[in-house]
Amino acid sequence: MRLAIIGECMVELSNSENDLYHLGFGGDTLNTAVYYSRCGGDAEYVTALSDDILSKKMLQQWQAEGVGTQHVKIMPNTVPGLYLIENDDGGERHFHYWRTHSPARYLLDNFPRVLDELNEYDAIFLSGITLSLYSSDTRKMLCDFLQYFRGRGGLVIFDNNYRPRNWSSVSEASAAFNEIMHIADLALLSMEDEIALHGEHSMPNCLARWLKSGATEVVIKNGAEGVLAGNTTDSFKVAVPTVVKPVDTTAAGDSFNGAFLASKARGQSLAMCVRAGQYCAAQVIMHKGAIVPRDVNLIEGAA
Ligand code: ADP
Repeated sequence: MRLAIIGECMVELSNSENDLYHLGFGGDTLNTAVYYSRCGGDAEYVTALSDDILSKKMLQQWQAEGVGTQHVKIMPNTVPGLYLIENDDGGERHFHYWRTHSPARYLLDNFPRVLDELNEYDAIFLSGITLSLYSSDTRKMLCDFLQYFRGRGGLVIFDNNYRPRNWSSVSEASAAFNEIMHIADLALLSMEDEIALHGEHSMPNCLARWLKSGATEVVIKNGAEGVLAGNTTDSFKVAVPTVVKPVDTTAAGDSFNGAFLASKARGQSLAMCVRAGQYCAAQVIMHKGAIVPRDVNLIEGAA
C-alpha cells in the first residue's frame, strides 16, 4: 500500500531543567509515518518546511526513519512551527505553540499541485490536526480532492485528533469534521476526542454514525478500555491484551495507527490490524517521548 501522509511536524523543546531544553521533532501525523515505517510500511510525508537548519535536521531525521520526503515543499525565509513542553510542579505537561505562520499551513495554497502528485498513491492519511492547519477555503479544496481521490478507488484514512485551541470555534471544527466524516473510508478514532467534539458517549453510537456517513471501516480507540472495530458487515470489541502502566502516553494513538496501517498494507484482517496497533501502542507508552528508541520491538513475536 503506497501511503501519503499529510500534516505538520514541529520543532519540540522539552524537559526543561534549569532552563535547559531538549531539542526534538514531533507531530501526530509524522509520528504515524515513523511507526508505519518502523513496522515495515512505505510512506511519504507531505508537508512544507523552511530551508533553515532545523528544517534540514527534520528532513534528515525523517529520511533516517525511512519516511519519504519527495513531496516536502520548501518555503525559504520562513521558520518551522515550534512547541515547548513544560512540566509543572505536579508533573502535569503543558504545551505552548509557535505555529501560526508555519510553512505547513501554506502547503496547499502555495503548492496546490501537490494534490495532483498524490494521485499516484493507494491511500492518503490525515488527521483532525491536519484539517486545522488550513483556512476553510483551503480545507474545501483538500476535501474536494479527497472526495475525488476516493471516487477513483483511493483509500482515505482519517484520525479525528481534535485540539480545540487549533480552531477558532467549536462550530468551525464541527463543520470540518462532519465534512471529512462523509469522505473517509477508514476512520481511526479516539473516543476521547469524539466525546470532546460531539459530546458522544457511546462507542456503538459513534461506530454507527461513521458507518452511516460512508466509512467502510471504523476503529475506535479508548485507551486501556480497548477498541471497538467494525465494518459494513460486522463489529467487535477487542480488549487491550496487556494493560500496562504508562510512562508517557504521547503518541499512543499515532503509533497504534502506524502499526495498524502497516498490518493492513500486508493484507491482514481488521482484527489482526487492531491487534498489531495495540501491541505497538503498548510498547510506545512504556517509553518517554513520542518516538521511542529504535531498538524497541514494535511487532508482536518479532523480537
Ligand atoms: P489516542 O491517543 O488516539 O486517544 P488512546 O488513548 O485510545 O488513543 O490509546 C491508543 C491505544 O494505546 C489504545 O487503543 C490501546 O491499545 C493503547 N493503550 C492505551 N493505554 C494503554 C494501557 N494503559 N495499556 C496498554 N495499552 C494501552
